[in-house]
Amino acid sequence: MGAGPAGLTAAYELSKHGVPVTVLEKDPSYVGGIARTAQHAGYRFDIGGHRFFSKNQEIEDLWTEILGDEMLTRGRLSRIYYQGRYFDYPLRATNALRNLGPLETVRCMASYAWAKVHPYKDPRSLRQWVTNQFGDRLFRMFFKTYTEKVWGTSTDEISADWAAQRIKGLDMWSLIKTTLLPRGRPKERGQVIKTLIEEFRYPRLGPGQMWERVQKVLADGGQPVRLGRAVERIEWSDGKVTAVLAGGEVFSGTDFVSTLPIRDLVEKLQPPAPEAVRRAAGSLNYRDFVTVALMIDRADVFPDNWIYIHEPGVQVGRLQNFKNWSPDMVPDPALTCIGLEYFCFEGDGLWESTDADLIALATRELAELGMVRPEEVLDGAVVRMPKAYPVYDDHYQRHLDVVREWQEANLPNLHLAGRNGLHKYNNQDHSMLTALIVARNIATGAGLDPWKVNADAEYHEEVRVGEADRSGRQVPARL
Ligand SMILES: Cc1cc2nc3c(=O)[nH]c(=O)nc-3n(C[C@H](O)[C@H](O)[C@H](O)COP(=O)(O)OP(=O)(O)OC[C@H]3O[C@@H](n4cnc5c(N)ncnc54)[C@H](O)[C@@H]3O)c2cc1C
Repeated sequence: MGAGPAGLTAAYELSKHGVPVTVLEKDPSYVGGIARTAQHAGYRFDIGGHRFFSKNQEIEDLWTEILGDEMLTRGRLSRIYYQGRYFDYPLRATNALRNLGPLETVRCMASYAWAKVHPYKDPRSLRQWVTNQFGDRLFRMFFKTYTEKVWGTSTDEISADWAAQRIKGLDMWSLIKTTLLPRGRPKERGQVIKTLIEEFRYPRLGPGQMWERVQKVLADGGQPVRLGRAVERIEWSDGKVTAVLAGGEVFSGTDFVSTLPIRDLVEKLQPPAPEAVRRAAGSLNYRDFVTVALMIDRADVFPDNWIYIHEPGVQVGRLQNFKNWSPDMVPDPALTCIGLEYFCFEGDGLWESTDADLIALATRELAELGMVRPEEVLDGAVVRMPKAYPVYDDHYQRHLDVVREWQEANLPNLHLAGRNGLHKYNNQDHSMLTALIVARNIATGAGLDPWKVNADAEYHEEVRVGEADRSGRQVPARL
């Protein structure tokens, strides 16, 4: 169930073991899930740029096996945009000082000194906690806006506990020490990690190319992905799932792999799961995501792969320049496609806006940021991605345990895998690993535990304040 990276990896692995599979995907045209590559008039764009990197060699090898030479190695450039200036990301002292200028640097230091002399005693909110560590001016520049955009919550309402845990060990002194190190010097964490941060692999035609290729391999083997088949009902009796109803058709089988969001999965069980399980699954939360791709009549807009927008006056959280990921993402090198990323909740004002309004908003904001002139925008396209981020609030683990214990005890032939499938903030590599595990459990009775695949952040990049990381609590608790 689901033809994202996890569902397709499970099918790919099962077919290698000679196990016949049927993949059911609700989308009428795309495979790849969140890692699809959308297409519009010859342009290709991601739902949030997708880097391919993994500490797991088996996954790296699998990507090479699937796409071979079509996997490019790309250099990374990403910066923070704030008040008309670009700050290197990760931050570097020389660049930060040059950008701030002597006057603003003195102001930041004075604000820091003030915070040290007059700290919030017993800080309760994220704002108070970070201000104590860095002073109010730096808090506003590098912490406040982006955190609020990502989570949709004021930093006054986010608990200080979360900040203390998320940003532990980070204070002014360690920041200065880290940023004074030149970027290129090998650090303790090793050259390999540094390379992963500064370079990544990327399919020539975007992440969707990987999943379109797997779709083709399956089809060539006589097992085409069934598109436009939304799973509506999952029937079970006598301790096992017996069939799935999708797109008006009934599909039976011996084993069922679900990469559906757990909330949706439990809703579809027939007969219904016990009340406590339904309540637990219904209490899992998600953050949703809208990408607006604008096609620009200019060859060079900015050199970065992506830019974090810390500017408070605009709603956009991040910009992607897809031709900098791969030149083949645009139909003509004289043109550019910029993706504007908006974090939102399904059903809120942004989510419900018409495509035309979203394209107008994105055009306005890109012009306000000084990136393009409105008349350079040739065209636009919108993708709404529900449940882009599984939310780790204070209660999610308890709810997840309820669902998992019931499912394992009562429906052992239902196998959960993937990101929302396990409610884990997994990148593609870990989503795929969980799928490999369940496929091997089915094919060989390996008895491995997909829940043990770890989502750790260490090698990705320095943990960003305010952005979900891959370990620990991901969403700030409200006060
Ligand atoms: C903004 C953003 C940036 C990211 N960047 C990166 C990155 O740089 N590198 C990286 O490796 N990973 C990245 N990821 C993570 C990556 O997208 C996920 O790990 C991966 O897509 C998860 O795969 P999945 O198959 O578990 O789930 P999904 O991709 O969510 O796929 C699930 C599939 O199930 C289908 N489905 C849902 N309900 C039904 C139903 N009822 N019936 C049938 N089908 C259904 C969906 O349509 C979808 O195709 C990013 C994610 C986001 C949100």
